[in-house]
Amino acid sequence: MVEITEIQVDGYECVKRAIDPASGLHAYISVHSTVLGPALGGMRLWPYASEEEAMTDVLRLSRGMTYKAACAGLALGGGKSVIIGDPSMKSDAFFEAMGEFVDSFGGTYITAEDVNIKVEDMGIVARKSDHVVGLAGKSGNPSPKTAWGVFLGLKATLEDVYGSDSCDGKVFAIEGAGSVGSVLADYIAKEGGKIVVADIFDESAQRVAKATGGTVVGPDEIRAVDCDVYAPCALGGSINDESIAELKCKIVCGAANNQLLEARHGDKLRELGIRYAPDYVVNAAGLINVYDEMMPGGYNEERAVKNMDQIRESMRSIFAISNEEGISTATAADRFAERRVEEARAKANA
Ligand code: NAD
Repeated sequence: MVEITEIQVDGYECVKRAIDPASGLHAYISVHSTVLGPALGGMRLWPYASEEEAMTDVLRLSRGMTYKAACAGLALGGGKSVIIGDPSMKSDAFFEAMGEFVDSFGGTYITAEDVNIKVEDMGIVARKSDHVVGLAGKSGNPSPKTAWGVFLGLKATLEDVYGSDSCDGKVFAIEGAGSVGSVLADYIAKEGGKIVVADIFDESAQRVAKATGGTVVGPDEIRAVDCDVYAPCALGGSINDESIAELKCKIVCGAANNQLLEARHGDKLRELGIRYAPDYVVNAAGLINVYDEMMPGGYNEERAVKNMDQIRESMRSIFAISNEEGISTATAADRFAERRVEEARAKANA
């Protein structure tokens, strides 16, 4: 029997904890907002050191999903689930209990894969709840789509900075030659952009350099490359006091989540005249893609890809807010998202 308890948290619509002694499940789901639509957000399995740490993460991540969906122009709110533990705890009973937990939200929360959760785990969750997306055989691997969305966001930023969205002849320093970084490098190179790439696994960087006619530098050198665009496609926190002192780019635009170590680093980029493409805006194509599974008739790739054009539109609006209000693009993105939610709320209350 899964014990589910609701926890009141200011500013959040519904937060619950689930404990299932039989399977060892100890999880939290947070629905930050359903103003724009049901709250979609992944399920993360992580060895949190404490309940407080898990709660902090689920609240932060669910709020982030509200902003991401709002900027992506989707009829979705923000939610997230976190499970305290590690992959050794996985069992059918564990994920069935999680499915019951997801289902207890009655569709206001919709789940998908996140860190340490695989498509086959989701298949088990789906035995107990219909409110699951990203299942096998549907919208598929999000990474190439994410790369396409980053490319569209990059084009909007090039247009803003240089007056032309062409990559031709420009230099792009790509940090991280993984699932997204490698595909992004291909799109850029096909348009004549010059690739400089780094990865902690040298062979990954070499592979991308070979495919794109680019060059490889060490992971400690990539941020200091004299380039037009620095594209963080590895881990978060790459924009910090140390890296900002090294940057020689005009634009920061990449896929990695939480690129700014602290909000003040967004202000610092602005002071230096470096245009920052807010991460959660440009890396939203995976979400746009999986959202399409919820459309009547099911997933349609052509429609999903078309909807990714919204990233470019949102970036233009965010640059306009940043210019008009004299604020960083990161703050402008938050305001853009908040306005969309507030407009929807006012409409619903009218
Ligand atoms: P990935 O694991 O496939 O690739 C990341 C690459 O970065 C790896 O090749 C890794 O070796 C390399 N790397 C790690 N630390 C590095 C460092 N210090 N310097 C240089 N390279 C380093 O991950 P991915 O799916 O390509 O995602 C990249 C980033 O984009 C992540 O931050 C991820 O959270 C974010 N993101 C991904 C998606 C998606 O659809 N895959 C969606 C949204 C956001």
